[in-house]
Formats: sequence, C-alpha cells, structure tokens
Amino acid sequence: ETQALHCIGCGARLQTTEPQKAGYLPAATLAKMQADPDADLYCQRCFRLRHYNEVQDVELTDDDFLRLLTALGDSDALIVNVVDIFDFNGSVIPGLHRFVGDNPVILVGNKADVLPKSINPKKLTNWLTQAAHAQGLRPVATLLTSAKKGQQVDELLAMIEHYRNGRDVYVVGVTNTGKSTLINQIIRQLTGVRELITTSRFPGTTLDRIEIPLDDGQALIDTPGIIHHGQMAHYVDQRDLNLVAPTKPIRPKVYQLNPGQTIFLAGLARFDFVRGQRSGFTVYADNQLLLHRTKLVNADDFYARHVGELLQPPRAEQLPDFPPFVRFEFTPKVKSDLVFAGLGWIVIPAGQTVAGYAPKGVDVLLRKALI
Ligand code: GDP
Repeated sequence: ETQALHCIGCGARLQTTEPQKAGYLPAATLAKMQADPDADLYCQRCFRLRHYNEVQDVELTDDDFLRLLTALGDSDALIVNVVDIFDFNGSVIPGLHRFVGDNPVILVGNKADVLPKSINPKKLTNWLTQAAHAQGLRPVATLLTSAKKGQQVDELLAMIEHYRNGRDVYVVGVTNTGKSTLINQIIRQLTGVRELITTSRFPGTTLDRIEIPLDDGQALIDTPGIIHHGQMAHYVDQRDLNLVAPTKPIRPKVYQLNPGQTIFLAGLARFDFVRGQRSGFTVYADNQLLLHRTKLVNADDFYARHVGELLQPPRAEQLPDFPPFVRFEFTPKVKSDLVFAGLGWIVIPAGQTVAGYAPKGVDVLLRKALI
C-alpha cells in the first residue's frame, strides 16, 4: 500500500479525489511531483498560495466548524466577519455571537459594487448593523467593501488597525461572500509580506489557517470558508453561477400586477400576487435572470411544462436532482422585501398578500424594506 503523503505547506494528508477538501491536488500533478525527487509536495491550495498569493476555499465538517468557532472564542483577537450584502441571510454564520465572547467584531458587507446606484451606503450600513443585531451580533463597526474592485480595502485595514490593539485578527465568513477575494486584496496591499505568509493548523482539526504577519508580530489569520447550505448557489450549475452572483449593479425592474398574477424568476423561484390591490412590485435580481409573468391559475402547469427549457436555470439535465418548490405566504404590515436567499428580492407594498416559492432548502423570508 502507498504510504500517506502530506503537504509540506499545511500538513494536510494529500488526496486526489475531493477538490473541495483539504490536501487536494490533481492526480496528474501528484504523479509528476512523485517522479521528481527534488519536487516539494504541496496541495493545490498551498501551491496557489505560494506561487500566486491566492487563497482557496475548503469544505468544513460540522465538527471542524465547531472547533473553529471554539478556537475563536478561546482567543483574544479581533474578529472580521465578511458577509455578502446581496445575501445577508445566506451569509450569516449560525451562532457566531455565542462563540466570539468578548472579542470585538468588525462586520464587512462585501459586494457593494452590485447594489443599485439608488441605494444610500449610509442607510445600507445601518440596515446591515441592525440585521446583525437581530442575529445577536453586536459589531463595533460596519463597513461596505467591494473586494472585486478593491474598494474600501484601505479603509478596512485602517479600521482593523484601530480596533485590534495589538491582537491577532481572524477573518471569518461563509463561502461565496468573497472572503478569499478580499484576503487576496489584503495580501496585495500589505506589500513585502510575500515570502512571510505561512500556513498552520487549527489545533485539533484538519483545517489549515493562513497567517499574514502584521508589524507587531501578530497576524491576520484567514479561516476556512464555511459552507452555508441555504444559498441558492448550491442548486445551480457552475455555468449559471453568474445569475445568482451578479457582477454588475442591479437595475431594478418594476411590475404593475393585479392579484392572480405570477412572476417566475427563471425556474429558480416563483412569486404569486395572491390578494390585494393592483400595485407596483420591484424585482432586484441579476439583470440577465429571466423574469416571466403569467396567470396564477396556470402557473403550476406552466412550470411543469417549461422548467429546464424556457424557465432556465435549472438546466434540463439538473431536473432529476432539483428540489421541489416550497411555498411561503406573507401579508406584510409595512413595505417589505420578500427575499429569495442568494437570488434577489421583491419589494412588497404594505397590506398585500403574496407567496414566494424556492427549491426546498433555500430560504424565503420577509424583511424590512432595504430601500
Ligand atoms: P469565498 O468563497 O467567500 O472565499 O468567496 P470568493 O472570493 O471565492 O468569491 C465568491 C464569488 O463572489 C466569486 O465569483 C467572486 O468573483 C465574487 N466576488 C467576490 N468579491 C466580490 C465583490 O466585491 N463584488 C462582486 N460583484 N463579486 C465579488
């Protein structure tokens, strides 16, 4: 039998079967490395980190996740929690507030570049802080960034310096929030550290951590991305990810609807105007996502006939595994957003009865209107 090989970067046991897990590298690369007696054995993640200063995600088991949170709680550190402002509910770390203890938290709302220009950043920052409070998290500061465009990364670094008081900094977040992109920006901005970045293990886990040294001997530590299964991203094909993770500012679309009308958001979600008075409903979703209006009475039949074709994504070949829709009905007392986690939202005027449908496992919820 072959003896277990370990990455010399993070120490993870090398494996060639699960790209999302620690220690992965392609089989062909491993074969090439083993053929060369001078080659250093790195997993793909450490290889990319070493050669391109790029971090990648790994998947966490529930046990590892708990140990990671416990490690945060046991440390005296500043916590930076990255969330996706486009999908706040899909990017909250369950129970984070119980683990951080007395450690201060900076809340970073990333992907600010995607929001429509009409949104006032100050109002959004307040909204985000309130949403965090509702989760029991009390950030010392909240900041909007665009990791992709490199916007507000300097401000974030200044804020970290201000609040850390000589402590280590842990950056935490669920996957798809842009945490890796943000860390990569930070690595680029903190010049001169190129050779100093190190990886090590969280005690008692197989999770590697990436340490970016700070001036005073402390470090900024990147923690593995945590998978949040309620995100729509887990139900679409790789090729369609752009439709659930917009890259351009969203242009809201207004529909004047009568009760008894339905809008399909491709085949991924459905909105019914059940009861009320003719009103305007504003849809916030990727500009390329197909929106199709039809009659409520025919909607079930229409979906059954057209999902995977006209109503795409999901793609036809995904249908056998695509979860059935679950329906949620609401009658908001004040103007509210009906949110399809990770896909977008529809603004509902007060007093109208509506229903939202999404694949089983994806959250549909009502929140106070953002705009
Ligand atoms: P992670 O899983 O949290 O590490 O997230 P990644 O850094 O891998 O990013 C997830 C997706 O979001 C990728 O498609 C990124 O290109 C995209 N992304 C990351 N940051 C931003 C941002 O600031 N704006 C926009 N529009 N997209 C972003």
